Amino acid sequence: MTVVDTDKCDECGTCISVCPGNALLIGNRLAVSPEKCTSCGLCIKVCPFGAISNVQQKI
Ligand code: SF4
Ligand code: SF4
Repeated sequence: MTVVDTDKCDECGTCISVCPGNALLIGNRLAVSPEKCTSCGLCIKVCPFGAISNVQQKI
């Protein structure tokens, strides 16, 4: 699953603009909606702060 490290995130909004599934939400903080995220990896590539990463998780 894709996760955001909110300590590194600068809330620049770049990841939100590239996410094809509108899976990134900004409220007080950014979070990835597990239902919407397809783990395409686009947000990980564009984040200038390296705040997004993919964590393998078996359900
Ligand atoms: S991995 Fe893809 S679908 Fe998931 S939050 Fe990032 S850009 Fe959106
Ligand atoms: S691209 Fe990175 S720094 Fe910018 S809002 Fe997304 S997670 Fe935060």
